[in-house]
Amino acid sequence: MIQSILVANRGEIACRIIRTARRLGLRTVAVYSEADAQAMHVAQADQAVAIGPAAARESYLVGEKIIAAALETGAQAIHPGYGFLSENAAFAQAVLDAGLVWIGPPPAAISAMGLKDAAKALMQQAGVPTTPGYLGENQDAEFLAAEAARVGYPVLIKAVAGGGGKGMRLVEQPQDFADALASCQREAAASFGNAHVLIEKYILSPRHIEVQVFGDAHGNVVHLFERDCSLQRRHQKVIEEAPAPGMDEATRAAVCQAAVRAAQAVGYQGAGTIEFIADGSEGLRADRIWFMEMNTRLQVEHPVTEAITGQDLVEWQIRVASGEPLPRRQDELTIQGWAMEARLYAEDPAKGFLPSIGRLEHLHFGMGEGGRIDTGVAQGDTISPFYDPMVAKVIAHGPSREDARQRLAEMLDETAVWPVRTNAAFLARLLHHPQFVAGAVDTGLIGRDGAALAEPLAPSAAALAKAAARLVAPSLAPGLRLNAAPVRTGHFLLDGAPIEIAFAGAATAPAPFTLVCEHGQVWRLEPWHHKPTDGATAGDGAILAPMPGRVIAVSVAQGDTVTKGQKLLTLEAMKMEHTLVAPFDGVVDALETQAGAQVQVDALLARITQQDD
Ligand code: ADP
Ligand code: ADP
Ligand code: MG
Repeated sequence: MIQSILVANRGEIACRIIRTARRLGLRTVAVYSEADAQAMHVAQADQAVAIGPAAARESYLVGEKIIAAALETGAQAIHPGYGFLSENAAFAQAVLDAGLVWIGPPPAAISAMGLKDAAKALMQQAGVPTTPGYLGENQDAEFLAAEAARVGYPVLIKAVAGGGGKGMRLVEQPQDFADALASCQREAAASFGNAHVLIEKYILSPRHIEVQVFGDAHGNVVHLFERDCSLQRRHQKVIEEAPAPGMDEATRAAVCQAAVRAAQAVGYQGAGTIEFIADGSEGLRADRIWFMEMNTRLQVEHPVTEAITGQDLVEWQIRVASGEPLPRRQDELTIQGWAMEARLYAEDPAKGFLPSIGRLEHLHFGMGEGGRIDTGVAQGDTISPFYDPMVAKVIAHGPSREDARQRLAEMLDETAVWPVRTNAAFLARLLHHPQFVAGAVDTGLIGRDGAALAEPLAPSAAALAKAAARLVAPSLAPGLRLNAAPVRTGHFLLDGAPIEIAFAGAATAPAPFTLVCEHGQVWRLEPWHHKPTDGATAGDGAILAPMPGRVIAVSVAQGDTVTKGQKLLTLEAMKMEHTLVAPFDGVVDALETQAGAQVQVDALLARITQQDD
């Protein structure tokens, strides 16, 4: 077997490959960009080579630097991981030309499947059912519009070189075709350097079903059953599971055999995935499942297949690349239980899923029976703007679909990341969606109901009470009132917004602030030693900001005469409004702020001078 591997990737992907390589006793070499010098994958490898600046196109995507690093460190083989150079046939060939072992399919197989039109044509020849559509050379706009009409609306326009959900346009009616085509071609030319498109019938009630295949150098090809990746956001996978809900044995056999034929048609070796689109309107039926594309690499969601088959697919890749036969025959592979994976991203669902970058000051993954976390970051690491903002893949395995679903939901509930925002709460709620619970999935589910699942939740009174008790000493702190003992009420700031919390208990060494973690969400709670603004103690007439926030209204002008209790200013923090009033009758002597100003806690906003009567 190969004795040493250079992993041409970063983060979670590189860590995943290093884990198996080390278990097999192989020497591992990492490569890293300037942004990744302190990264987990660098620490885990036996050796690491710097390959340039943070931008991927100047480091991780530069094939020559990676090959040079392998030669320099004496690594025998290169594993590309997934993403980056994994489906780049020219890079695979360059690795072989340098006398190194390529842990991946033959370059010719990558090329054959690299363009969606060529791949579909090849599958048609191999007798694999493909989505109805137009595949040809003619790219004339009017001709393509006529083809779309022939195929029948709705149609999808797909860039033949597209990937990662990019370069696709759904067109519902003929009058929208011309604009959609032009914008798809523009995006395809800019992102993939190839404006060529194909037209495909848009399958209604779509389900994404894919089959894991594996080939070796001895002519063997097996499948490792199917995965369902129908839970997608903008054509990108969010939650994946294996097997597919509602798949009967006859349909499974038909789809998996079609996948094996597809792999055999290109002389496939190594790990690959054949993606199908299914019309799920009447359940999964063999005559309603069509080939979509082949991914000639290990897939992000491979852990669910590993869980149900008990195999390590990275080990399979290394053995196959070493010239060994496949570790298992087809009749030695069976499905055990059910597995689900959720992609935990550093993004803010409440803000349109915008990436949330920064240091992971607090990072805790929920872990239960049958759980697995694949990650490339630890607490204290930073999610940088340079790469995919994935924090981890959270995977659960159980005897039944319901077990796996509940275990995964629990793991996500207990996941706590701060101050970076994540989609953990969104994922947990998605797992409880009635349609998902029933296994009645389709690729449009998140588009239809996702907005409601992205709404932020509020922490429960119980979680707040527990957190509050960690912030106060046994003796009453200022601002606390004694209630019917032992419950007390105190003023706090929750993510900067004032909140009154009833709680019991206290801490001998109170923390300056604490995190409130619940349902996969995290809030920061701190004591609020607020200055009462009702005039009781503000004897000198100074009006101070009781919390950090924004002045949204100034109701008085300098020199105005005001009466006790009259509204002076309105302050906003975290969408909650707070009114500041005159502590006594007087004159506005000084006005130190204006509407729209951002203010710090205790900033002087105004001063009221008492009037002599
Ligand atoms: P998959 O079907 O394996 O989930 P996708 O189509 O979602 O793959 O994405 C294609 C590949 O590109 C994946 O392997 C993913 O990890 C990788 N990828 C996506 N975005 C990035 C990125 N910004 N940086 C590196 N790799 C990425
Ligand atoms: P990519 O290379 O970006 O992964 P795919 O061809 O695999 O492109 O399509 C991505 C996703 O778009 C699929 O997983 C599926 O949800 C949707 N999709 C693709 N083709 C069709 C189709 N013909 N009908 C309905 N949905 C489709
Ligand atoms: Mg795809």
